[in-house]
Amino acid sequence: MSVLPKKNTLGFYEIRLESIGGLGANLAGKMLAEAGVLGLGLNGCNFSSYGSEKKGSPVKSFIRFCDPDVEIRDHSPIEHPHVIGVFHDGLYKMVDVAKGLQDEGILLINSVKQPAQIQQELQISGCTIAVIDALSIALEEKTKVNTAMLGALFRTCSFLNPEDMRKVIRQTFEKKYPHLVEPNIRTFDRGYNEVVFKHYHKETSEVLNIKTAAGHPQLGYQTQPIGGIITAYGNTILKDMSGSRQGFIPSFDQETCINCAACDNVCPDDCFVWIEGEDKRGRKNMFLQGIDYQFCKGCLKCVEACPTGSLTDLREIGNVATEKSVKKRIDSYKGGLVT
Ligand code: SF4
Ligand code: SF4
Repeated sequence: MSVLPKKNTLGFYEIRLESIGGLGANLAGKMLAEAGVLGLGLNGCNFSSYGSEKKGSPVKSFIRFCDPDVEIRDHSPIEHPHVIGVFHDGLYKMVDVAKGLQDEGILLINSVKQPAQIQQELQISGCTIAVIDALSIALEEKTKVNTAMLGALFRTCSFLNPEDMRKVIRQTFEKKYPHLVEPNIRTFDRGYNEVVFKHYHKETSEVLNIKTAAGHPQLGYQTQPIGGIITAYGNTILKDMSGSRQGFIPSFDQETCINCAACDNVCPDDCFVWIEGEDKRGRKNMFLQGIDYQFCKGCLKCVEACPTGSLTDLREIGNVATEKSVKKRIDSYKGGLVT
């Protein structure tokens, strides 16, 4: 008898992970597939799609499971998954992360929000929303987000055996980094135990089902925005890079800043906003005013470079970046502020 709880018409149970580079979704996909194939004797495959940048660009990882007597001949991206794992809740502002989710499927999200809030924001129904605060767990245990997400994904895919994953964690770390075995197992177990599930019945309203219903490309030659507008995140129209950041922004304290510009020297995206002024002796100087977060990809190189601790990393929750942002004048930029 099959251990898979559901299958599509080709006999597959399918999982899609939505993430950004740097959060480990690619590796998590491999580990999930291995747990099903090596641990349970299923047939399975995993592959990913990602961009050219190591950090911050969108990543999708796909996992297919089927019974051992079924051949895997379909290697196309998964458009109608039974489970979707979203590694970063900033993603769904710009990417339709729930797209194609099967009826009564499970949407797992790394977030500090409650399932009801996510359901309202995504406008979906006829599915289960699972939420895990994987970033907080990883910070507390000094490990990685993907291990906590794997714990939650194992609970979500209840046919997988969590003991298989604990074995993989032991094998991965015990030779070279034995001190990392216990924190990683704790992280995995916390992901497994702390994930919360809330089911939402299918709404009769078309609007609430529209996000999961579509499986076709959003934009084509008939539907693309006029003027070649790029609607994906990180562009100058939306001015929102939160989907590219990994949950942290640099926070600036002007009181302790000595205006040495070490931060600006290492920033790859020219985020720092300066204004010309006079120092205490009346000499002309440039003074740092803050950070324009519309360009900031959250690499935190500036925090490492700052000699005075005026820049610290801050957990990005809600609209904190928008509230703290100091806007640059881009049209004739000379370091001035928008007036
Ligand atoms: S984190 Fe700092 S260095 Fe990195 S892009 Fe943002 S402002 Fe620039
Ligand atoms: S590196 Fe630190 S002290 Fe120097 S200008 Fe930047 S924020 Fe100020």
